[in-house]
Amino acid sequence: RYDVVIVGAGHAGAQAAAALRQEKFAGRIAVIGAEPELPYERPPLSKEYLSGEKAFERILIRPASFWVERSIDFILGERVVSVDAEAMTLTTDSGRLVGYGELIWATGGEPRRLTCDGHHLRGVHAIRTRADVDRLLGELDAAERIVVIGGGYIGLEAAAALTKFGKTVTLVETLDRVLARVAGEALSRFYEQEHRAHGVRLLLASGVSCIEGDDVVTGVRLADGEILPADIVIVGIGIIPAIEPLADAGAAVGNGVLVDAQCRTTLPHVFAIGDCAAHVNRFADGATIRLESVQNANDQAVVAARTIVGRETSYQAVPWFWSNQYDLKLQTVGLSTGFDTAVLRGDPANRAFSIVYLRDGRVIAIDAVNAVKDYVQGRALVLNGVQAAPEDLADTARPLKDLA
Ligand code: FAD
Repeated sequence: RYDVVIVGAGHAGAQAAAALRQEKFAGRIAVIGAEPELPYERPPLSKEYLSGEKAFERILIRPASFWVERSIDFILGERVVSVDAEAMTLTTDSGRLVGYGELIWATGGEPRRLTCDGHHLRGVHAIRTRADVDRLLGELDAAERIVVIGGGYIGLEAAAALTKFGKTVTLVETLDRVLARVAGEALSRFYEQEHRAHGVRLLLASGVSCIEGDDVVTGVRLADGEILPADIVIVGIGIIPAIEPLADAGAAVGNGVLVDAQCRTTLPHVFAIGDCAAHVNRFADGATIRLESVQNANDQAVVAARTIVGRETSYQAVPWFWSNQYDLKLQTVGLSTGFDTAVLRGDPANRAFSIVYLRDGRVIAIDAVNAVKDYVQGRALVLNGVQAAPEDLADTARPLKDLA
């Protein structure tokens, strides 16, 4: 029996274990992870790890010695398949039974798969784990034509990384612009133009009807009948939170495991954090949402750890995120969903600009492209929901800190 068992050895799980020791928690801690690796950073999987600029050792969240020094036990390559909330035990797919005093569920999500014919063919890939990317890289030399399905961050980053290998890349998006769910139109149009300038063929408002091939993929058939020849298909269409064992155990779930401001689920002594946790977020106008970001994983981990050691805090962190494509560094702070006004600050033609999003006259989010100053100084505007006039926000001669 462990005092704390953490299920999921990803960003949130790793941070929870580290935070418990940081908070001087002296009990026994185990982290159970389905992947065989110690916790590693996931963002590079569609960036520097995919492009070959960073070796795996460089994306480990902590070196192995860090965990040993803190007496944190890892049980890796095993998936938790059931939880008994009354007995306070869980079972892994190898039949191992583990007892817990407190349970932290940090399982992230599984990539959403296509459901159309051919979705299982060899050559069709997701990008969620190191193993996914290693498989993809193993096929890359022999591949010429790559089709990416999904114009969200992961699809766009993968497209950008793969153009560096001189591959022919086509990206297919169902909606009429990329990043439609997470950004305003100006940002979408800017990124579309960048990808086209780098040789990516972008097909917007295009549905996929099936994946062609017998054993191995040969192409993607679009809803309009066009067939895109493909040696590799990358599917980046979101994740499904990995919450089944917890839901089966009786935890209240929606789009994720429902948690309160301390990341407690509705089951006693069971917390949920990271991509799988549905929480009320003050920066989403009080809506219950899941955030898929390193920031959220880390900050919720700290909240759960503090609650366990009796230093209860509430999850209040301002959301932030980044995305690297080509030489463009996008940094976002806040959540732009529900904005009524978008103010352009700077000229996208210079490839350094920001978009400030307002709702009812208050700043709710900023997307900064190669504009670190705006990102750093704009945080306070988002944090405090500052009221600012659009013409002041648009005036690049005025630093954002002057408006805070
Ligand atoms: P994960 O890191 O996914 O960890 C969950 C772990 O739990 C996994 O290892 C999984 O195998 C394991 N698991 C699942 N079910 C079980 C089970 N039943 N038993 C045992 N183990 C289980 N965020 C940013 O902020 N910026 C970025 O630029 C960015 N880029 C990204 C690029 C890619 C390609 C991906 C995939 C994600 C990116 N993200 C980015 C998102 C970020 O990586 C996630 O938000 C973060 O990893 C969430 O952490 P987590 O611990 O909740 O989930």
